[in-house]
Amino acid sequence: MRVLVTGANRGLGLALCKAAVERGHTILACARNGEQPSGSLKDLVEEYPNHIFPLALDVTDEKSVAAAAAKVKEKWGSIDAIINNAGVLYERDVKIEELDFSLLELTMNVNLYGPMCVIKHFLPSLYNGTDQTIINISSDAGSITTAYGGDYPYAISKTALNMFTKQIKHYVSDKNINVYAVHPGWIKTDMGGEKAPGSPEETANNLLDILEKKKIIKEDLFFIKHNGESMK
Ligand code: NDP
Repeated sequence: MRVLVTGANRGLGLALCKAAVERGHTILACARNGEQPSGSLKDLVEEYPNHIFPLALDVTDEKSVAAAAAKVKEKWGSIDAIINNAGVLYERDVKIEELDFSLLELTMNVNLYGPMCVIKHFLPSLYNGTDQTIINISSDAGSITTAYGGDYPYAISKTALNMFTKQIKHYVSDKNINVYAVHPGWIKTDMGGEKAPGSPEETANNLLDILEKKKIIKEDLFFIKHNGESMK
């Protein structure tokens, strides 16, 4: 499978790249520092030069998304999965009376408009793939059923991402493309923090099981946990 991952340079994105190349997939690893990766992504690219290809992509910059999509179309012509993983969490637990709207705007730019922009530009290559899947990495913070009073920008951006996910599911329904918004669990990353009980490696492997159809998801589900359970 040829899998496109955003936010590939650290956290869950990096764990996804590692798990996917170890399973023999080809990864198009999109990151802001892009074609000149550093740290663990650089090491991974050096270890698997024929299976992992770094691409410069800032999800908030439509020109960079369009340029990466053009490059992918020209070089490979198709992709089989898109994982919209890049995300930000600002203003944790801020009171509504103190909300900074510039951070709300930044959050929406990355967490909602980012995945929308990626789908807009990469859909033509996805249409050329096989057994295709779109996974938008969401969060339980975006669940209307379990909503709590806090994390306003983040939670709202993920709720809206769930809506967009459902819209895209309808939009591509005649093409047999699987589309999910996935809560990855509370995992140990820069965003999740050290106290998080889950590991990005376990979540990454569960997400790959979904792509590989080792985990069969009920057809009507679109908002799920990484282990395939339903979310509301
Ligand atoms: P991290 O903070 O560890 O990593 C975030 C990633 O997103 C980084 O690679 C970062 O790149 C990238 N990113 C941020 N802004 C942009 C941008 N404008 N363009 C491209 N990439 C960008 O987060 P996690 O790995 O924990 O989170 C991954 C996903 O999982 C997110 O969508 C998050 O909301 C979701 N999630 C995480 C949970 C957790 O417990 N960790 C719980 C629920 C959901 P850079 O290094 O350049 O900043």
